[in-house]
Amino acid sequence: MARPDLTARVVDGKALANTLQAEVAARVARLAARDITPGLVVVLAGDDPASAVYVRNKARAAEACGLRSRVVRLPAEASVDALLDAVHTANADPQVHGVLVQLPLPSHPSPEHVRRVTRAIAPEKDVDGFLPVSQGLLALGEPGFVPCTPAGCMRILAHAQVPLRGRRAVVVGRSAIVGKPMAHLLLAADATVTIAHSHTEDLPGVVREADVVVAAVGRPGLVHGGWLKPGAAVLDVGINRLPDGRLVGDVDFESAARVAGVITPVPGGVGPMTIACLLDNTVRAAERELS
Ligand code: NDP
Repeated sequence: MARPDLTARVVDGKALANTLQAEVAARVARLAARDITPGLVVVLAGDDPASAVYVRNKARAAEACGLRSRVVRLPAEASVDALLDAVHTANADPQVHGVLVQLPLPSHPSPEHVRRVTRAIAPEKDVDGFLPVSQGLLALGEPGFVPCTPAGCMRILAHAQVPLRGRRAVVVGRSAIVGKPMAHLLLAADATVTIAHSHTEDLPGVVREADVVVAAVGRPGLVHGGWLKPGAAVLDVGINRLPDGRLVGDVDFESAARVAGVITPVPGGVGPMTIACLLDNTVRAAERELS
C-alpha cells in the first residue's frame, strides 16, 4: 500500500518479477511448439537452510514457468571430484540448458576449490553469468550471460524510468557477482560510475553525489537517508537476517524512503527479480537451439 509519508516511489519487485515470469512462460510455450523444454540444473551440497530456501524458490519459479528443473543434491562433505562429476554430467546432458552451483560449498571454504567447481560449468550453460568468459564479455560490452542480480536491478531502473545517461551512479560493493557487473551495466547505459568498497573514504560523501545508488554490501541499514541526494534512485541488494529473525537490506528504508525518489524494499525488491532473471537467462540459453 502507498505510504503518504514517503517521498519515494517504492518498487514492487514481486509484481515486476511476476510480469517477467509471464513473459518467460510465453517464450517457454513457443519453445514447446518446437519440442524444446528449457532445463535448469542446480547443484546443491549440504543442507544449509538459507541455500535450501534459495534453491527451492528457484525450482518452484522454474516449474511455474514450464521449465524442467532438477536439483542434484550432494552431501555437505562431497569431494571436489564429486561436485565436478555433477557439473560435468549436467554439461553433457542435451536437455539441460542452464547449470549453476549453489554457494557456499559447505566443506570447501577454499576459494580455489570453489573456483574449480564453478568454472567447470560449460560457458553456453553459465546462466548465473559467473564464468570469466561471461564476465569478460560483459566488461567488453558484448552479448553474453549477465549475472542475475545486476540484470534484475537494470530491469527495475528501466521499469521505474530512472534516467541513466550522464547521471552519477554509485555502486557500494565490488563483488564479482553483484558490484562489478552492476557497475559495467550502468557504464554501458552511459552513467558515470563510481564503485565504493570497504576502503572508500567518506562513503556518505560519495553516496551523496549519486543520482543512482546500488547497495550490495551485506551490512544491515548501512546506507542512511542522510547520505542521499534528494530524489535519488536507491536499489537495495542486501539481504541480512537480524538476530530477531527479520530480513533487512543494506539501506535504512525508513530514513532513505523520505529522501529518495525511487527505492526498492527488502524483502520484495531486488530478490524476486534475481530469480526471474535466472529463468530469463535459462530460456535464452534454450532459444539458442533455434538459431
Ligand atoms: P560480498 O561480501 O562478496 O561483497 C561485499 C562488498 O561490500 C565488498 O566489496 C566489500 O568491500 C563491501 N563492503 C563491506 N563493508 C563495507 C562498508 N562498511 N562500506 C563499504 N563497502 C563495504 O557480498 P555480495 O556482493 O555477494 O552480496 C552483497 C549483499 O547482497 C549481501 O547482503 C547478499 O546477501 C546480498 N545478495 C542479494 C542478492 C539478491 O538476489 N537480492 C543476490 C546476491 C547477493 P571489500 O571488497 O573492500 O571487502
